[in-house]
Amino acid sequence: MIFDHPAVQALGAGTLTWLSISAGAALIFARKNFSRFLMDCLLGVAGGMMLAAASLGLLSPALEMTMYLGRLSFLPVVCGLALGAAFLLGLDKVLPHLHAMQDSVEGVDARWRRSVLLVAAMALHHIPEGLAIGVGYGAAAHPDALLPGGSGADMATAVLLTASIMLQSLPEGLVVALALRAEGCSARQSFFWGVASGATAPLGALPGALAATLASGLLPIALAFAAGAMIYVVLEEVIPEANASGNGNAATIAAIGGICLVVLMECIFK
Ligand SMILES: [Zn+2]
Repeated sequence: MIFDHPAVQALGAGTLTWLSISAGAALIFARKNFSRFLMDCLLGVAGGMMLAAASLGLLSPALEMTMYLGRLSFLPVVCGLALGAAFLLGLDKVLPHLHAMQDSVEGVDARWRRSVLLVAAMALHHIPEGLAIGVGYGAAAHPDALLPGGSGADMATAVLLTASIMLQSLPEGLVVALALRAEGCSARQSFFWGVASGATAPLGALPGALAATLASGLLPIALAFAAGAMIYVVLEEVIPEANASGNGNAATIAAIGGICLVVLMECIFK
């Protein structure tokens, strides 16, 4: 069956995430303005969910897979984490983009329009999320990579990872559409570009799944790589963004709530 292939599953899950981003962007038709406080809390929830998904859905199965290395089991995981973070740092430097609530442009010097830069930032954000989904399904296709009795990277983990990433990407679709609306785009344009910003989720999922299916020995590194990329985005973008307008405490509490939500999902659905 074609649906048994991890690349097909990853592409499907990446597309669902894209739909979720698009649904968030579609909320722009409901109202022109949402309170800044609410947006900061939603960003906080998204950041917390991303952190928990990276830890529980990627790092912990990676560690489970390297257990056979004994005291050196940390090594592939730490290497993967560092590589994933370095990859995102590289993208962050090369791709010109603008974070929704901050004014300084990052990346190479470019006279791009602000709205394009905002979309670029969100598109960049969804690359690690796509990667994480892809690697999740790639890992689920390799039950042999686990020690007997291990259950860290099965299909349930991949589905849960998808569900967490879908949930947290909904407000992110709205955030980019709202920022574009504030820049003077029409509701329809804001929606369109909000949808476009999510295309990188399925695009990232495919190479993620393929990389994870190449060699099962590299799986822990691939999982940790995706975790490093996700955590980079949370620390560099989501949390600073949520804290930029003086709602730091509320956003932090919301982030803890996001972590609790993923833990809860983990306990109920696995
Ligand atoms: Zn996100």
